[in-house]
Amino acid sequence: MSESLATVAYIGAAILFILSLGGLSNPETSRRGNFYGIVGMTIAVLATVLGPRVTAAGVPWIIGALAVGGGIGLYAARKVQMTQMPELVALMHSLVGLAACLVGFASYVDTSIQFEGAEKAIHEVEIYIGILIGAVTFSGSIIAFGKLSGKIGGKPLLLPGRHWLNLLALLVVIWFGYLFLQAHDPAAGMTPLIVMTVIALLFGIHMVMAIGGADMPVVVSMLNSYSGWAAAATGFMLANDLLIVTGALVGSSGAILSYIMCRAMNRNFISVIAGGFGTGGGAAPAAAGGAQPAGEVVAVSAAETADMLRSAKNVIIIPGYGMAVAQAQHTVYEITKMLREKGVNVRFGIHPVAGRMPGHMNVLLAEAKVPYDIVLEMDEINDDFSDTDVSIVIGANDIVNPAAEDDPTSPIAGMPVLQVWKSKTSIVMKRSMASGYAGVDNPLFFKENNRMLFGDAKKMLDEVLGALKA
Ligand code: NDP
Repeated sequence: MSESLATVAYIGAAILFILSLGGLSNPETSRRGNFYGIVGMTIAVLATVLGPRVTAAGVPWIIGALAVGGGIGLYAARKVQMTQMPELVALMHSLVGLAACLVGFASYVDTSIQFEGAEKAIHEVEIYIGILIGAVTFSGSIIAFGKLSGKIGGKPLLLPGRHWLNLLALLVVIWFGYLFLQAHDPAAGMTPLIVMTVIALLFGIHMVMAIGGADMPVVVSMLNSYSGWAAAATGFMLANDLLIVTGALVGSSGAILSYIMCRAMNRNFISVIAGGFGTGGGAAPAAAGGAQPAGEVVAVSAAETADMLRSAKNVIIIPGYGMAVAQAQHTVYEITKMLREKGVNVRFGIHPVAGRMPGHMNVLLAEAKVPYDIVLEMDEINDDFSDTDVSIVIGANDIVNPAAEDDPTSPIAGMPVLQVWKSKTSIVMKRSMASGYAGVDNPLFFKENNRMLFGDAKKMLDEVLGALKA
């Protein structure tokens, strides 16, 4: 394939990636968005493999790598549960970071292309920054994977003088960057490059370890953004325009998503980008903050829940992580259909950080074919709780915790929540009195107008559906 044909293919792929992102912004068009992404990526891979920069000797290597990578990807896609998606995404981000590091080292020691003067300096700056971003993304994503899968505790690790440590690390990185640019050959430049890589790896670990459990959604989207910038940096190192464009698209859309998540959680975007976030502002270890709720908990049965739903005019369903674990979305929709047929106004209230990844609940509800027009965002529905007869909370906890509004000492203080307690009756479905991801007790369970329906969400909803049918 000639250089110009490869360029045309790259432009086509870039346009398809932009259309893909546009499509993915709405559940109704997300399938189309995915399709554009698949076609764009196929064109990009073919144009690269068949393009002028790959020699015949390289093709078997590429085919081998495609077979191994594609095989692992296919296996993971089939095996990984929906609830493990965030961990998988974190792992994928780590691979982008690792790739940026490896490409950086490879292009530094590669002597087949000789740069001179300003070009050499620019190339070395690209390598240095590329490896820096890649290493932070790699180690940060590994820690995020550990935290999301529960292998590492959610408690923030607060080293004394951590901001000073970060500042010192930054100064050392700048100093070694200067030494790196002064080096006359790869052997001399290798030491500063390795020192910087080790510091960047440690910084990535430190940054994510310092973030409290409640703030993990922002970390996931932030690492998404970092992985995009790491890919863009790889594009600069390899002089591949499409990789630069694609990386910049992922980087900027991840940054926008981080901003949206920050707003949803009432956190400061700048402090997240700087990495030192979710510590002083309230996401301290859960046990350290927040008053212990007290009072009486009233449990109800599935039959009583069905009675309340049957006699309600307005119902709001709030799904959370537990609905995903129990895979209860199809039964939820069966109940919704049944109630709607009886003239009950049923709607869904979606918190931006419900579940374990952005859009988690929307994906599950779309899978169950719940109509989009009854699925409302938190801001659209929060004022309607006072006119609601029954709010039914399915495996959600942190996103309906009134302590976020009432208790300034709570670790989640200031986070906007769905105000289910304002409805005439709220029913919380979960298996026990355990806290949610943020590890914070929930005073909602003790409110006078709240009822608890204990048990696995799927099992209990099946019973509610059975009672409604009867
Ligand atoms: P939570 O984690 O606060 O609560 C989920 C509840 O579901 C638990 O209290 C649990 O209680 C219950 N549950 C678990 N399994 C079942 C089951 N099989 N049947 C019924 N109930 C079950 O989830 P929310 O959705 O309310 O809030 C999301 C939390 O996750 C927030 O803290 C958010 O910051 C965080 N997060 C969100 C991310 C995102 O991008 N959306 C990413 C990372 C973190 P019990 O054990 O008693 O059943």
